[in-house]
Amino acid sequence: MDKLSSGAVSFREKDFETHKGLFGDLSKRQKPHTLFIGCSDSRLVPSLITSTIPGELFIIRSVANIIPPYKKGINYPAISSAIEYAVLSLGVEHIIVCGHSNCGGCASLYKTEEQMKDLPHTNLWLELARPVKNRVMQMLPKATYAEREWMTEQMNVVEQITHLFTYPYVLERYNNDTLDIIGWYYIIETGEIYNYDVDKGYFELING
Ligand SMILES: [Zn+2]
Repeated sequence: MDKLSSGAVSFREKDFETHKGLFGDLSKRQKPHTLFIGCSDSRLVPSLITSTIPGELFIIRSVANIIPPYKKGINYPAISSAIEYAVLSLGVEHIIVCGHSNCGGCASLYKTEEQMKDLPHTNLWLELARPVKNRVMQMLPKATYAEREWMTEQMNVVEQITHLFTYPYVLERYNNDTLDIIGWYYIIETGEIYNYDVDKGYFELING
């Protein structure tokens, strides 16, 4: 904890002091432009990879950036309430669903019940992404581990976007052009971000 405590001291002395005005303004209200839904993975840092400052991103983190479909969201209100609040109360203009390379959650989709027996909640949660695994196995039955890995991670972003569209208010705002839905795939070792092009049906590098 020493590292975190000294980090808190350093934050107050340096970054907070430098941006005191910003934090003063933010204490009155927040008006984030984007809801960022990303994997809980420690290596994915939303504000870092988007070069944003406090107040810009409303953030949801979940294992494998999974979004429960609207009806199942009743059983997983931590995620669905945050989507509700971001869209209906804060009026975000964009939602980014961001997956990443080397995702442990996506890799766990391929583990057996026995291998997952000590992680029952994770196993239950991953049920929401199980169709992705089945689709990858059908499309690439002879794929290498690496091919299967990136395909699963990318297809999972697309799958979770389809879940997002089951939220009536998300679909309505998307159809009215007041809400933009974006799918990203972040590569940890290169810093590359690929954007999912809905019309073309594949991911394109946006920061190369
Ligand atoms: Zn992950």
